Amino acid sequence: MSPTASADSPAQLSTETLAKFLEKCLACPKCHGAMLSKPAGYVCRSCGALFQVPESYVDFLDPTEPSLASTQTDFSDHYVVQHTPYWAALRQTTEAYSASLPSIFSTLLGRPARCLDIGLSLVSAGHFRPHLERYAGLLAVYCGLDPDAQQLVGAEDGLFMARSVGEALPFVDEAFDLVLIHATLDHCFDYQKALDECARVLVPDGVTSIILNNDHSWAKQLLPWAARGRRRSASAHHNVFLGPRAVIKEMDKRGLEITRLRGSRYLLLPPAGLEALARLCGASTPRLLALLDAVGNRLAPTLGGDFHLIFRKPGPNEDRLDLS
Ligand SMILES: [Zn+2]
Repeated sequence: MSPTASADSPAQLSTETLAKFLEKCLACPKCHGAMLSKPAGYVCRSCGALFQVPESYVDFLDPTEPSLASTQTDFSDHYVVQHTPYWAALRQTTEAYSASLPSIFSTLLGRPARCLDIGLSLVSAGHFRPHLERYAGLLAVYCGLDPDAQQLVGAEDGLFMARSVGEALPFVDEAFDLVLIHATLDHCFDYQKALDECARVLVPDGVTSIILNNDHSWAKQLLPWAARGRRRSASAHHNVFLGPRAVIKEMDKRGLEITRLRGSRYLLLPPAGLEALARLCGASTPRLLALLDAVGNRLAPTLGGDFHLIFRKPGPNEDRLDLS
């Protein structure tokens, strides 16, 4: 059954709601000034900056901005799918957890959600609907943001795509009910700024969800030299390596309260060991991985290979989305 934001007003993505939202909430990422829609793109009423619309997305990335020079825009190796028994089982387990997220968010929010997806966890080029469909009934607005232009092309009507980074969000304060930062925070060149921005654009009573590789997993703590080696080998791609406690502390500084902490990928054997185990267990491997995650969470939720945190911004929500 699809999650439903509220019994009398199930949300759906529409071009009309999106247009209303953008008129009110789109802002210059440089100065937060109001934006004017022009045939050539969007123009900031305050600083005059022009943001073009090369395809089906708005390009907010300014290549002349010195702080953006280190922003990674080539993620092609992220899309290499590994066809091995272990990775296939892991994908199946991860998918099962992803499928449970809409109902978790729906329960926490209980209302139609304006969603910002920093790093595009719900869509990717050419696959705009499959993940979003799971959120039917919950999302009223979907804004996806990524520095990689390849990921943004071909978006359908009713979805807003922006070439941008988490450190400079092109939206006014308190614009979103739900902000997703899934497998993205480690790519930010200034993760503190990205978290500042996340807290800024969230409405009171809004929810933010962070999924990240755990730099404080049990394996990395047990074998610190191996962890150092993994950090070195990943340094071309990852700017920061964080554990769940560090992220909880950062969000606490910004006034956001932790409401969910879950670890996953507890089976951190060397790759050869993982593949041998997956061959041995065959079709039961996803069940084994899910069981280990369940036990791991019971014993030590901060020590999994990955972690998922959900935070809530305290305060009454007085700016409910008008769907009329
Ligand atoms: Zn401006």
